[in-house]
Amino acid sequence: MPTYLYECPVHGKFEEIHSITYKLTECPKCETEGKKTEIKRLINFASGILVEPNAQELKGKLDKEVADFKKELAKNENLRANIIGEDSYQKRAQAYEASVRTLGSVAPKSFRRNF
Ligand SMILES: [Zn+2]
Repeated sequence: MPTYLYECPVHGKFEEIHSITYKLTECPKCETEGKKTEIKRLINFASGILVEPNAQELKGKLDKEVADFKKELAKNENLRANIIGEDSYQKRAQAYEASVRTLGSVAPKSFRRNF
């Protein structure tokens, strides 16, 4: 199963191994403390840049990384699983590329749904 990177506002970054179809939305450490804390999933790129997969982050940091990203995506099972979740890889990769190229006219919310 792939490894997923998450960030909790209380506990910081941590990794979880779970199936592609599973989505972690609350911090398990916070849960053991009786709290419900919403977490975000991060994508760890080859360059070491950590991003939450949303359009504004990607626009600022990833415009130049599309080519490298596609190569990485093709060979890295974990990264692919993180980006895609449960849906088809090719479709998402194409949507990702198209979105990065046209971010100026893509609303962040609709872009985010692609992930
Ligand atoms: Zn936490």
